[in-house]
Amino acid sequence: MTCTTMELTERLLSRPSGAVARTDLAGHVAIHGALSLPKRDDRSWSDGVLRAVAESGLLGRGGAGFPSAIKWDAARRGARRPLLVVNAMEGEPASAKDRVLLSYSPHLVLDGADVAAAVIGASEVVICVADDSGPTAASVDAAIAERTRAGRSRRRFSVARPPGRYVSGEESALVAWLNTRQALPTMRIDKSVALTVGRRPTLVHNAETLSHVALIARHGAAWFRQAGTFEAPGTTLVTVTGAVRSPGVVEVALGTPVADILVRAGADAQLSGVLMGGYGGAWLDPAHLATPYAPAPLAAVGATQGVGIIVALPTGSCGIAETARIARYMAGESAGQCGPCVFGLPAIADDLELLWAGRADADLLPRIHHRADTVEGRGACRHPDGVVRLVRSAMALFADDVRAHAAGRPCPGHAAPSVMPFPATPAIRRSGS
Ligand code: SF4
Repeated sequence: MTCTTMELTERLLSRPSGAVARTDLAGHVAIHGALSLPKRDDRSWSDGVLRAVAESGLLGRGGAGFPSAIKWDAARRGARRPLLVVNAMEGEPASAKDRVLLSYSPHLVLDGADVAAAVIGASEVVICVADDSGPTAASVDAAIAERTRAGRSRRRFSVARPPGRYVSGEESALVAWLNTRQALPTMRIDKSVALTVGRRPTLVHNAETLSHVALIARHGAAWFRQAGTFEAPGTTLVTVTGAVRSPGVVEVALGTPVADILVRAGADAQLSGVLMGGYGGAWLDPAHLATPYAPAPLAAVGATQGVGIIVALPTGSCGIAETARIARYMAGESAGQCGPCVFGLPAIADDLELLWAGRADADLLPRIHHRADTVEGRGACRHPDGVVRLVRSAMALFADDVRAHAAGRPCPGHAAPSVMPFPATPAIRRSGS
């Protein structure tokens, strides 16, 4: 996907529309103003920033939507100096927001990381960029070098390059890779127990979340809350693709109707469905496009904000075909350590491909539902749960097509090309083709 910033916003994407151009340190300061950080540990400054982040209501933009201030408070109460990890892995193939942010405005993310590290007492920051995102990593490396030359930080910044796989960005997988070079998620019964790299407690923060922190540290909580809703304040980055004239990343105030976001991207007037949240997200009925883009309203119509992805499915496309393709891709991205995920996801993909091809047996539909029930909640990470949510939403939204395909009459769109961006992988295939 070509990444463009589609419209001027005053916050993270503070540039007129056009192709992404990297902002150097001087340009960054000219746009956002200088960031002032204490020269040494300063408890009252840290308390003030922590209070501002808490009052801002900033929720993590990495998919979990967890309040940032709670994570920080836990991290700074540990006995050892923590490590701050910036998660810019962007394992979702349909997502481009981390890439745009770090390619276009890397200093905003690094400022946010500097603020968070100062608050929690971390002396080191590691920015994780996937090993297949070379230009993004180069932009971050260049930004770190600029800041070092300018004497901007007393902390050590470095870039790490975990493998560019879907689950590598899951925070426990990221920490496992930093420890062992194996990006495998770990089962965490008690999420309040800190992750560790070596023996250091480790705080993992999404890149976009930190860029908001950089601005809250400058302008305060009340400014942050001038955009968005009371429950979901601020702006957020959304990657919009599919049946749109201008695919790319747009910054919107939370609470903006989904329809307005699609209009900004130049979406077709009529759509068959809208994929919300990414490949572990859910299909949204076009009848619900007036829904505010925020976690609670989207959940109320069975959708999710997820990692900030909207894919418009054009009329004439087949939602079953797209769901089968995504399920096959997701099955291939399993980290291969939990039986229900390793065996269940390929089985779900097999059944969906049979349905797509109009070759269902009499038990196929109940079998898909049974497999979804069996897989859900049984993995060390949420990877299979995302697939289950997506499949269930497809069976509901495309119910008429499901019945026709199951009866051996695939819809006319079943042979249409996919609008989903997938990395080149032999795992994507269509049954019977
Ligand atoms: S649920 Fe799947 S992706 Fe997650 S750790 Fe287990 S095998 Fe890996």
